[in-house]
Amino acid sequence: MSEQPELRRDPITGRWVLIAPARARRPIALTGHAPHARTNGERFPCPFCAGQEADTPDEVFAYREAGSQPNGPGWSLRIVPNMYPAVQVEPAEFVAISAVSVLESAPAVGYAEVLIDCPQHIDNPTQLSNQQFRDVFRAYRERMQALAADSRLAHVAVFKNVGAEAGASLGHSHSQLISTPIVPELLRKELTGAEEYHRRRGHCVYCNMLERELADGVRVVARSEHFVALTAFAPRFAYELWVLPVGHQPRYEAISDGEALELAVLLKRVLRSLDDCQHLPAYNWFLHTTPLREGEPPYYHWHLELTPRTSRPAGFEWGFGCHITTIAPEVAAEQLRAALPPS
Ligand SMILES: [Zn+2]
Ligand SMILES: [Zn+2]
Ligand SMILES: [Zn+2]
Repeated sequence: MSEQPELRRDPITGRWVLIAPARARRPIALTGHAPHARTNGERFPCPFCAGQEADTPDEVFAYREAGSQPNGPGWSLRIVPNMYPAVQVEPAEFVAISAVSVLESAPAVGYAEVLIDCPQHIDNPTQLSNQQFRDVFRAYRERMQALAADSRLAHVAVFKNVGAEAGASLGHSHSQLISTPIVPELLRKELTGAEEYHRRRGHCVYCNMLERELADGVRVVARSEHFVALTAFAPRFAYELWVLPVGHQPRYEAISDGEALELAVLLKRVLRSLDDCQHLPAYNWFLHTTPLREGEPPYYHWHLELTPRTSRPAGFEWGFGCHITTIAPEVAAEQLRAALPPS
């Protein structure tokens, strides 16, 4: 792999990033620079563990044993409102977003929820059973479908923070859902970029990219019948991963229970490999899918993006949106493939 820095453009959003392997050798003089750290020094009792149900708001969804009572034991997965929500279900007054002045604003109406993956205190998603992992993906689907019934909402963001550096405040494996009356910027950028590509070329950019990636193979980390995991061509972080359905599918909600299990098994293997290669990095994953009211566009293709905190964004990244990565995605994919546990 060449040491020449390279500029790469993400084919969907047009975001430019830099791959600069030589930067990996820069001298580090400050302690505490390592961005990886997962949670340590946790406090107990953990409010997400079985038996602590009284420490969370009342559940809005759960997978439970037949006959067990809501907000008591007997659950395998629970969804509860976030105790510290960024959005509110009932704002004082709901007003549609309007541009009456140069400073546009609207009440942050929506639901902020926490999806607790399992009753046991598991802090690494790879320790979830295949069934538990599958149920996380099933519950994403169920909750997105349920929230779509609230006509005020335009979008449901689903994401996971693993480790303090990635923004998690509790170690117990969990995901979050934040629904909003607007479509967040990065997703809108992807939708616009993908629509523009489709208008010019007559194809879904993700389908075209997958065709090319599967033919090249250099960034493919693992694949199953319906899904493929790749290192991103133009990553923001070293080891950034994208997981996509191989066939064109605009909406995540269309995932079947069988596909949810397949996705869980694939992602678990890839996460084990990532944990191994990068010594338990903190990471986020997030789901990008067509917004609630935008049908089934031929140009958009749902996917999961995973950003390990392999570096700490600084002035160039925050100020100008141009990320510098020291490990080329082709090199990262090779390492990840070599560390994959057997399927
Ligand atoms: Zn716990
Ligand atoms: Zn597609
Ligand atoms: Zn995306």
